[in-house]
Amino acid sequence: MNKLAKIIEQLEEEDLLKIRRDLLAGNIDRLIEKRLREAKTGLSDKFCPVCNGPITNESFILEFGSKHLRRKAHFDASDCLEYFVSTRLRERKNQTS
Ligand SMILES: [Zn+2]
Repeated sequence: MNKLAKIIEQLEEEDLLKIRRDLLAGNIDRLIEKRLREAKTGLSDKFCPVCNGPITNESFILEFGSKHLRRKAHFDASDCLEYFVSTRLRERKNQTS
């Protein structure tokens, strides 16, 4: 909580009001959920999930998943994207069917 308290201390009144509104609307909850879900799936926008290479500005982005649970995977090269699609997405499909 110390980390959050420090961040809050540094915020302007205007931002605090916005955050409180988001908090009451449940947006913060959703944001945290989203981050945790991303952590769970191992998907990051900084590293390629296939080769662990760093993602540069010229990355390949794949968006997939259901309408309410969109996921984005970033790849450093097209062959990594291809590998991901042909292996991990296929595994996922097999698990749910
Ligand atoms: Zn890669």
